[in-house]
Amino acid sequence: MKNIKDLLKKITKDDYQNKLVNLHIHTAYSDGEGDFKQIIDAAKEQGYKLIAITDHNTLEGHKVYQDDILLTGAEFDCWYGYVFIHLLAYGVDINNEKLQPFLAKTKKETEGALIRLFSKRNVKKLIEAIHDSGGIAVLAHPACYWALSLEGLVKSLMKIGLDGIETYYPYPRFRRVVKFHSANDVLKIADKYPELVKTGGDDFHGRVFPE
Ligand SMILES: [Zn+2]
Ligand SMILES: [Zn+2]
Repeated sequence: MKNIKDLLKKITKDDYQNKLVNLHIHTAYSDGEGDFKQIIDAAKEQGYKLIAITDHNTLEGHKVYQDDILLTGAEFDCWYGYVFIHLLAYGVDINNEKLQPFLAKTKKETEGALIRLFSKRNVKKLIEAIHDSGGIAVLAHPACYWALSLEGLVKSLMKIGLDGIETYYPYPRFRRVVKFHSANDVLKIADKYPELVKTGGDDFHGRVFPE
């Protein structure tokens, strides 16, 4: 966990913006259109240093394919009180036992937006499992959450072990989720709490990587 946190802390805003790192990618293992292996190959061809494939509630792709530039990951649907959040896990051991109960049992749980709303994951226990498996927990696209105080939400999650927030994210392109806060609000919070890792990715769901 310490290593992965240190690794991600070294990555800069420029690395994300210059398309050297992208830590938020979906494939056909969840609701993306792309092929897991093709995305890894394309990222290498394009000169990416590091990518994370973060399919919804599943690590199935990571069980089949590993690569030097690929970080294990997943994006979990959870209710946190009255707020529905997406929690990114990075650097997890895919075989970790504590993590298994949080993984989707059916393909539908990885792609159906409505089905995913019925998630019963306990955020505190999920973060514990992510840590137990050697990974870190990062709040995805924080500007999208219906929380009166985004900072309050982040602080509350930090108390139960949140390691980072997704700070570099292309909100204008993300049309399916309503935005309640601004990218600048997120950046301000990330700067205020330097213990949080600032991650970035473009939530790729397409067929040909990168967009
Ligand atoms: Zn998401
Ligand atoms: Zn996503």
